Amino acid sequence: MAQQNTTVALEETAVQELASHLRGALLRPGDAGYEQALRVYNGMIDKRPALIAHCVDVADVIAAVNFAREHELTLAVRGGGHSGPGLGICDDGLVIDLSGMKGMRVDPSARTVRVEGGCTLGEMDHATHPFGLATPSGFISTTGVGGLTLGGGIGYLSRTLGLTIDNLLGVDMVLADGSFVTASAEDHADLFWAVRGGGGNFGVVTSFLFQLHPISTVYGGPMLWPLEQAADLMKFWRDFILNVPEEINGWFGFVTVPPAPPFPEQFHLQKMCAIVWCYSGALEQADTLFQPIRAKVPPAVDFAGPIPWPVLQSLFDALYPPGLQWYWKTDFFTDLSEKAIELHLKYGAQLPTMHSTMHLYPINGAVHRVGTSDTAFSFREANFAGVIVGVDPDPANNARMIQWARDYWMALHPYSAGGGYVNMMMDEGADNVKAAYRDNYARLAQIKATYDPSNLFHVNQNITPTR
Ligand SMILES: Cc1cc2nc3c(=O)[nH]c(=O)nc-3n(C[C@H](O)[C@H](O)[C@H](O)COP(=O)(O)OP(=O)(O)OC[C@H]3O[C@@H](n4cnc5c(N)ncnc54)[C@H](O)[C@@H]3O)c2cc1C
Repeated sequence: MAQQNTTVALEETAVQELASHLRGALLRPGDAGYEQALRVYNGMIDKRPALIAHCVDVADVIAAVNFAREHELTLAVRGGGHSGPGLGICDDGLVIDLSGMKGMRVDPSARTVRVEGGCTLGEMDHATHPFGLATPSGFISTTGVGGLTLGGGIGYLSRTLGLTIDNLLGVDMVLADGSFVTASAEDHADLFWAVRGGGGNFGVVTSFLFQLHPISTVYGGPMLWPLEQAADLMKFWRDFILNVPEEINGWFGFVTVPPAPPFPEQFHLQKMCAIVWCYSGALEQADTLFQPIRAKVPPAVDFAGPIPWPVLQSLFDALYPPGLQWYWKTDFFTDLSEKAIELHLKYGAQLPTMHSTMHLYPINGAVHRVGTSDTAFSFREANFAGVIVGVDPDPANNARMIQWARDYWMALHPYSAGGGYVNMMMDEGADNVKAAYRDNYARLAQIKATYDPSNLFHVNQNITPTR
């Protein structure tokens, strides 16, 4: 009994000591704010950590990493909390919650922005837009810069300016041993290679330095077509997007039209196909560039036009608030064959719920100008990243939407390039992680062995340390 009391007392002392080293709050079950802090974007995730360290600076991160290592706790790192499988949180262990680290600094003359690890895409756009500048990121503005960047970063500017990692100039990181390093092309170049696609495997990124580009008002937005036109549209889109100037981006999707303005009432709750465009070239040329699609496959709804960059970036935020149930499947594709189109038509017509969707993101153009082994992100020759997501507010629909997503993916997978995008996978095991990195996996495993030999950072799409 005395032994047990001593153990409890020691643990309490240790926790109090950690709290005393943090400038941010340390939360435990029962504390005010704990229940709020454990909620992540995917409502399917229900994990309860023993400790949540709400870090506000690098010193807090160092203290929390050291504590987790010394006490052999499971350690999760939370950026924006958007991971499908809930990799920003864990059961029982310690969560480093970066959501308090929101600092940003734009350098307009160098055209760079330094972004702390807890920022969202929308917050980054907010900081850079007044300067008429932006860096490529993703499609929903509440997503974390942290996880999105570390996995690659596919978005509206991929064809034009590459993945988010192709615009990353350096990172500040806290490693598993508690040390602080800067990784860039000049410093710790192996680590910089690994974090450009290798996820949160190598440490806690406390800040990212990005190259910015003159992006302010673009020409974009959705066009919608009836499902009957899906085959013609997919073929047109495939040939168009593989050949048009790189300033044109446009992802294809199967969607259900939300029952609300600005969508015309006759289409409410109809399953349709969509292309959401983003053209970042000279606005006066936009009408000419979009004339072929408007002439050959006229859309039933056409919202494409000049739009401020942050508005396009957050167009779908209201449709996808936090807390919905999400189930993800993903694959890369080099082509979109007739047989694949046939399968898309079959499963696209069966979207199981209003929020469920399938997207094909074009990743040719600038993404192809970086070699398959130049960064950890491997599928550089793929032309499309595909994602199938079952989404709904009601957990009662989970079984149905998960089955649809799995069936759709199983049918399409034989026509894929063989692996998926780590940021759009669920917790699918080591083989799928290896398939996502292909030949880059062995080098990632070696770098992991150098920087995190005991796999402290394992709540992620995990790379096994191997010498
Ligand atoms: C609605 C929605 C839209 C999306 N759209 C896109 C898109 O357009 N393009 C795209 O490429 N992806 C997209 N994604 C996928 C997204 O990139 C991943 O879910 C990503 O992991 C989210 O990052 P996060 O920081 O928000 O997540 P978190 O759950 O906080 O973290 C995800 C993983 O990254 C690690 N991590 C996060 N921040 C850090 C850090 N600073 N240092 C070390 N490790 C860290 C975590 O430990 C965890 O393993 C989308 C996801 C959602 C839910």
